[in-house]
Amino acid sequence: AKKAKGCGYQFFSEELNHQAVDRLHKEMKLRNALTDNELELYYQPKVHLDTGKVMGVEALVRWHDPENGMIPPGEFIPLAEETGLILPMSEWILEQACYQVVSWQQSLSMPLKMAVNLSVRQFQDPLFVQNVADILRKTGVNPALIELEITESMLMENMDTVLPMLDELKQLGVSLAIDDFGTGYSSLAYLKKMPIDVLKVDRAFVQDLPHDQNDCAITRAVILMAQQLGLNVVAEGIEDLTQAEFLTDNGCQLGQGFYFSRPLRLDDLESLLADSGLL
Ligand code: C2E
Ligand code: CA
Ligand code: CA
Ligand code: CA
Repeated sequence: AKKAKGCGYQFFSEELNHQAVDRLHKEMKLRNALTDNELELYYQPKVHLDTGKVMGVEALVRWHDPENGMIPPGEFIPLAEETGLILPMSEWILEQACYQVVSWQQSLSMPLKMAVNLSVRQFQDPLFVQNVADILRKTGVNPALIELEITESMLMENMDTVLPMLDELKQLGVSLAIDDFGTGYSSLAYLKKMPIDVLKVDRAFVQDLPHDQNDCAITRAVILMAQQLGLNVVAEGIEDLTQAEFLTDNGCQLGQGFYFSRPLRLDDLESLLADSGLL
């Protein structure tokens, strides 16, 4: 009984209904993803820009949906955040990342740092810091090798609750990075108050270097500010040599991006490490 003609309302409600069913279906599948072991960590190398030498990696989660293949985090993290699934998921991610570092502590000739992304939802969880402490203890990882990445917008929206939690996290011995820096309007005054070790320059400012004069100016200013505040600075989203050169010429020594390596499965990362004499 589909009378599409002259009946926009019916069309609209069927569309909505379809969306709701689709969402429920996705949510149910995401719930199973954790228990069915469908999540996998990929690792993107962070390198010294002048030598290309790997100094660490960032863990980036992927979902192998048996129905639709590999799904990037941009498509399921928001749903995981809405449903609260992000909490158990993030614990799994951190634990996995810590175990990986422990395994490398034995096999690598040089320690590699592991960066792990946090979700804004974790800062709303009163047990968050305790959970991190438990995972560090349980895995036996050297906390100095773990870096937690927090987006600038997460910080700015929830300064009052987030700031004390950052202090507690620091006391566990991990380091802290501000991710996507430059997109969230933080003021210098706030930055000085926070126990931050690293600023990550957002890809949006890097992608048009060295042609876009505004991006050049912003990137230079961020690098300078980081230096003044005694922070390390990492540029993300580097896709070609001219970007890397602009960054090193202006005092940024560390970076990541497709020019150096895409995020890799563990196997492929370990081949790369072996090729560079680290494994
Ligand atoms: P992000 O933390 O800013 O991660 C960097 C994203 O940029 C990654 O996308 C990476 O694949 C991509 N990328 C790296 N280099 C380049 C480049 O040279 N060019 C371009 N165009 N892109 C590059 P991915 O893996 O799809 O992750 C997207 C976002 O999802 C991440 O952004 C992060 O916010 C979130 N995410 C990823 N893994 C996790 C996780 O384990 N937990 C949480 N809470 N969020 C995660
Ligand atoms: Ca990140
Ligand atoms: Ca980022
Ligand atoms: Ca970004």
